[in-house]
This record gives sequence, structure tokens and C-alpha cells, in this order.
Amino acid sequence: MAPSKVMAVVKADAYGHGLVDMARAASEADCDFLGVLDIETGLKLRNAGIETPAFAWLHSPNSDFAGAVRMGIDLSAGSLSELELIARAPGRAQVHLKIDTGLSRNGCRPELWEAFTERALELEKAGEIDVVAVWSHLSGTSDEEDSLAIQKFEVAVAQAERFGFKGYRHIASSPAAFAISESRYEMVRIGVSAFGTSPIAGLAASELDLGIPMKVTAEVIADGVISIGFLHGYFSNLEGLARVEINGKLYLVNRIGPLASTIDPGDYEVGDTVIVFGTEGELAPTAESLCELVGTVTDELFTGLKANLTSYSN
Ligand SMILES: *Cc1c(COP(=O)(O)O)cnc(C)c1O
Repeated sequence: MAPSKVMAVVKADAYGHGLVDMARAASEADCDFLGVLDIETGLKLRNAGIETPAFAWLHSPNSDFAGAVRMGIDLSAGSLSELELIARAPGRAQVHLKIDTGLSRNGCRPELWEAFTERALELEKAGEIDVVAVWSHLSGTSDEEDSLAIQKFEVAVAQAERFGFKGYRHIASSPAAFAISESRYEMVRIGVSAFGTSPIAGLAASELDLGIPMKVTAEVIADGVISIGFLHGYFSNLEGLARVEINGKLYLVNRIGPLASTIDPGDYEVGDTVIVFGTEGELAPTAESLCELVGTVTDELFTGLKANLTSYSN
């Protein structure tokens, strides 16, 4: 993504991988920012001693803006009322102004943008806040919509510049960051693809050089029975569709129960390792291919998994 900076998004417990460990790993890998979704998550990282710049964008009027400013967490503002609440927090909040470029998800609508940015830059001059960025989110539903959103974004940035905005810009999450180089601007926000899954349908993670994806294993616990079920987050509608790998062979999963599932008979014994999904290039399915079978995205699989699978084996 260079020369753009990278924000590693660690929402939803870092997509089920463990917030603090993943935030630390991202910081050690020189990610410039951590995307934390809400202030509470940002404060958890600060309390764990992680000092990497962090950005929170989902607030309620009751959010702890004062805590965020005190602990150095950058804040999104998407409306005048949110901006005023943030500016009232003691200290100098670092604010990213959000323009709605079509997604209609907590950003400032274009017709209100001028008054909003004028006020934000006035608050900056008064020393209440720093306006560090203008940002938005792309829907990724189609190339046309994304390029229209990028045009709207540029108009919004130009308007803010007329009031003295000198900060940076960010709009791309994983799909755009990989597919649309003009969308990278000064920073990209990388979520699920930081965990090794391709954000682009039809393009394998290895083709994007995405590192090591999550690998989930279980165990053979009786003849034809493996130690993973839907309570662990293995989707029950994968029944009759998914395969698992044991000793270099694939086996169809016939029935998915709460704590265990049954598979076709074959060449394995109790105690053998079952690869539920894993690294590309192996026989086992990838997270993407499993999700494709049931029409969902890897975010849902990852965030639904319980980390300590084996402790449930019966
Ligand atoms: C979740 C999220 C991201 C990361 O999205 P991916 O497509 O997983 O990279 C980036 N920005 C915002 C605002 C998000 O909510």
C-alpha cells in the first residue's frame, strides 16, 4: 500500500482473532494506525499498554469522548452535534470529518457538509480540536458506485480546503485498497484481508500476497466423529457440503451437531488431526471456499468461531 499509510482494523475482537494480541502484532508490523470501531475498544488497547495511534468512528452521545481525548484516540465526527460534543471534551480532540459519499452510514450529508466543515475549522482555529483528516467509506457494490463515491469525496475535500483544511484523506477498506489504487490516498483501512482472506471475489489470497490465513483444526474423537460443531461456530448449513482434511485426504461432513460432527468413513483413527479449513494450496478448504458454499463472507465465519475449540470436545 506504500506510500499510503495502513490502518489495521481490529473491530469485532480483531475478527475473532483476539483484540490485544492482534493490535500488538499490527503495531509490531509497523501499521500506522489501529481502527477500533468504538472508543471503548480503543481504551482497552490503551489499558493494555498499546500506544499506536487509534481511530474510533462509531459513537453514541454517551460515548466517553473525554477519555478518548485523554488517551489519544482519534475520533470521527459525522454531524454538527457529534462535532460539538467532541469539541467540548477537555483537551484537543484529533478529529476526522466523515462525508457520506453514498453509503448513508453515519457520515455528514453533502448538503450539510459546507456548514459542518466551516464549523470544524473554526473550532480548530479556536484551539478546541485538530482536524486531521477527511474520510468516508466505499460500499464496494460496484465499480461505478465506487468511482462516483470517490468523485463526491474529492469534491468534499476541496470544499473543506476552502476553509483551511490541510489534513489527509482516507476512504478505502480492503477491496478498494487492493483493486483501486487511486482510492488509497494517504491511508487505507485494512480489515479482514489483514487476516489472510481475499477481499475480491475470484482472486485468491495468495495472488494478493496476503500472508498466512487462519487455520482451524479439530480432532477425530470416535469412528466418523470430529470435535467441531455449530456451537464452535462451524455453520450448520455446511452440512452435506463441507469437506475436512485428515491425513492428506478429504472427507464429506454429513451432519453437523452442536459439539461434534460426523464424516464419511475412511483412513483415520481417533486422535488424528482434522483440518477444518486452512492454508491455501493444501487439500483442506480455505475460509473463502467454505463461506462461498453457504453464501456468506469470511468476517462472519471468523467472528463466530470460539477460540478454544478443543475444550468443548465431548
Ligand atoms: C470494517 C471496516 C473497515 C475494514 O473493512 P475490510 O473490508 O474488512 O477491510 C474499514 N473501515 C471501516 C469504517 C470499517 O467499518
